[in-house]
Amino acid sequence: MIIVLLVILWATFQYALFYKKEHLVCPKCGHKFKPLVLKMIVAPNYISGKYIECPSCHIKEYCDVHKD
Ligand SMILES: [Zn+2]
Repeated sequence: MIIVLLVILWATFQYALFYKKEHLVCPKCGHKFKPLVLKMIVAPNYISGKYIECPSCHIKEYCDVHKD
């Protein structure tokens, strides 16, 4: 049970860090965006980014994480 709590805490911390310091960049149109938390949670992880729909061109792509 403690492990589960730790994992949730760690994930929350990671998301907090992401929203504070980083954003995703669409490889198709170069749009910079911070997706909704819910979309971040359901989007599959990629090596250094997310497989997520770009809010600008609405294409699902592997978006890399960049520093703000
Ligand atoms: Zn795009």
